[in-house]
Amino acid sequence: MPEKTPLVLATSNAHKATELQHMLDIAGLPFDVLTLTDVGFHGTIEETGVTFEENALIKAVEVHRATGLPVLADDSGLEVDILNGAPGVRSARYAGADATDSTNRTKLRSDLIARDATSSPARFRCVICVVDSMRIHLTEGVSHGHVHIDERGEHGFGYDAMFIPLGADKTYGEMTPSEKHQTSHRSKAMSAMVDVLSAVAVLPTSLTLLEVRHLLIDVALCAMTTEVDQLEQAIRRVPTSHHRELYEVLLQSYLFGGFPTALDGLSAAYRIHGIPPSVGDVDRMYDVAQYCKRGEALCREIYGSVYDKMTSTLSDVSPDLATWMIVEGYGKTLSREGVDTCTRELCIVAMLTVLGRQQQLVSHVRGALRVGATFDDLRAVEHAVTELYGVGTSKRLLDLIHLQERRLADQGG
Ligand code: IMP
Repeated sequence: MPEKTPLVLATSNAHKATELQHMLDIAGLPFDVLTLTDVGFHGTIEETGVTFEENALIKAVEVHRATGLPVLADDSGLEVDILNGAPGVRSARYAGADATDSTNRTKLRSDLIARDATSSPARFRCVICVVDSMRIHLTEGVSHGHVHIDERGEHGFGYDAMFIPLGADKTYGEMTPSEKHQTSHRSKAMSAMVDVLSAVAVLPTSLTLLEVRHLLIDVALCAMTTEVDQLEQAIRRVPTSHHRELYEVLLQSYLFGGFPTALDGLSAAYRIHGIPPSVGDVDRMYDVAQYCKRGEALCREIYGSVYDKMTSTLSDVSPDLATWMIVEGYGKTLSREGVDTCTRELCIVAMLTVLGRQQQLVSHVRGALRVGATFDDLRAVEHAVTELYGVGTSKRLLDLIHLQERRLADQGG
């Protein structure tokens, strides 16, 4: 029997977890629903959002950060037209901090009466948010109807006894759970989420090397900006099985974007995925001779026949920098295990394009081709740069790709 994917429901309410497990089982989705108590999460989450989306997202992201597991969170409430959409996100606390379902209904009744109304058009809204290491997905379900000052029925909870959904003649409070399920906001949001969850369930094995490479190129590109949200999104998309590659790509960004770039990137990865530094800890003992040896070998591989000329020119300019390039750059950093040389080079090409370092870009475009990249790989980098930075930035890479293609054609290759 295939293993089930854990899915944390951002609630300690065991009843809600049983209900969700039931829905997933019926949909044939292989998830094992866990509550916050199951995963040992005891923090309190402040629902500070002003929309259901924001609150669902806040809950899901916080629990995902703490557990590293896929998380499902929901936020829901009642919007009453005559009350300009109240109670809305405050539905659970409408009658105050210590509100109960009963005091909330009493307040709703008196607010309607204060407006000389015995009923009003209203709707229940539910937003469900799933966050895992690859994506954030939001779905929404709405149940339109009317609220009435009279309460009817003993089923359900919250405002159920006051709400009649469109087309029905009884309140949710008078319906059995399965009757309510036919029209409820939560079941609509949940069925929209079912497709997303089936993708989450198969994620770990579904990525090809190429897809992972593209995710890592996006991370490298986003690491070069100060747009934290963009970087976080790119980092979030890298699934657990590829965290080592993620760590390496962010680590090597210090050679191009500088220490702050790498620090910000790695801190974000730590915040989001909790990647422990030990994931990349293969070189704790500094061994300059070893770095020098493997650095030289890698640099030769990337620069090919121009290696000797390049290092001698650099030694004239600065013998210190020439040594650092081999020892620090190629030996200590870029020779590390954990991500293949071709992916490293493509990420370097991406970062140099953003930096506009023409000379080095030429070297690394050629270097990438030498270590196995294809023109399609380079074009994928160019597309990613265009998407994030615009054609003005990506054009120099496109020109170089064309140049290299022409050269290859001229050589009859
Ligand atoms: P939460 O999303 O579980 O935090 O729910 C917020 C509040 O909205 C609940 O405490 C209820 O007052 C109200 N609510 C949400 N969904 C329903 C429902 O299906 N029936 C009745 N009240 C609901």
